[in-house]
Amino acid sequence: MVPDKETLNSLREALLLWFDGEGRRYPWRDDRSPYSVLVSEFMLQQTRIATVLDRGYYTNWMRAFPDWDALAQAPEPDILKAWEGLGYYNRARNLQKTAQVISGERDGIVPKCRAEWLQMPGVGAYTAAAVASIAMGETCGVVDGNVERVFARFFSYDQPIATPASKKLFQDISDQLVCPARPGDWNAAIMELGQFVCTRSKPRCSDCPLQGGCQALRRGEVERLPVKIKKPAPERKREQVGLCRKGNLVLFVKETSSRRKGLLRLPSLEELGIAEGTWVQVDHFDYAITKYKVDLEVFCQGTREYDPSVNEPPFDQEEQCWIDPFQAGRDWPAMGAPYKKALLRHLERQQEMFPDIR
Ligand code: SF4
Repeated sequence: MVPDKETLNSLREALLLWFDGEGRRYPWRDDRSPYSVLVSEFMLQQTRIATVLDRGYYTNWMRAFPDWDALAQAPEPDILKAWEGLGYYNRARNLQKTAQVISGERDGIVPKCRAEWLQMPGVGAYTAAAVASIAMGETCGVVDGNVERVFARFFSYDQPIATPASKKLFQDISDQLVCPARPGDWNAAIMELGQFVCTRSKPRCSDCPLQGGCQALRRGEVERLPVKIKKPAPERKREQVGLCRKGNLVLFVKETSSRRKGLLRLPSLEELGIAEGTWVQVDHFDYAITKYKVDLEVFCQGTREYDPSVNEPPFDQEEQCWIDPFQAGRDWPAMGAPYKKALLRHLERQQEMFPDIR
């Protein structure tokens, strides 16, 4: 599949020329240290660039934890708070574990190649290749969803993508296509081409630097490719939680499940020992997590929501955390996104019903 040497050289030249003119400026492209690149790659797994940048996640993180040592030594609640809203919190924990390995066991020596990066916690094939090429200049290619789409079209790959076979083939191709003189730029360029030009729908082939060699374009197959295996519809789940209050304070409990460990959540009606139909439903929305779509139902004791007396909740002291929703600055400990949303909506309702509230 890989083109001959001459074609390959002109392909590299065309893509890099396009990237030099059209490539985006991101903070991690100015600071190409391994730490900065790894932080950005962890944040961008399953999260859009606009979210990471516009909401200040990357900048705030680099300010709070500017290097491996600072991150290695930071308390976990601070890490989770800085990650709050990005979801998939194991990414933050693994980032810190990697910092602890580098700062501790490795005495500050960073992994020097893709194979060594692969040994770090939470670092998979894509991230290892991205850091090794962008921060260290190793000639190795990345494969992410954007690259898969570009390759499937450029080479007119007729089989389903995102399968073990397609991933292996595309990794081989990516390793061969990458430009040895500028491996990091090549990888950034091919991903960016997929993101902004060879897009899922309505790709802009007339602006594409690879149009001369693109087989899907030549065969009129651009709209048909890539072939994808249809994902099953998400499974529905129901979750019933209670807003227990003591004065203004709302009861949260600490998560123990591995996915959300260390975050706060609202207690379930079952944990509170509240029989269905006893409390009043005051809110309802859904959220997605892994393969599930969860219907979250929020209940209160009584309709006024504001001044019910609350029995002592059935949790140990260290499991409980009482949150003041009216706290100025809302500097609450990190909480799961759906529960924070429920708390904010509770706050809005309170302020509508009791405008004099602080
Ligand atoms: S020519 Fe069109 S289909 Fe081919 S790689 Fe470029 S944008 Fe994608």
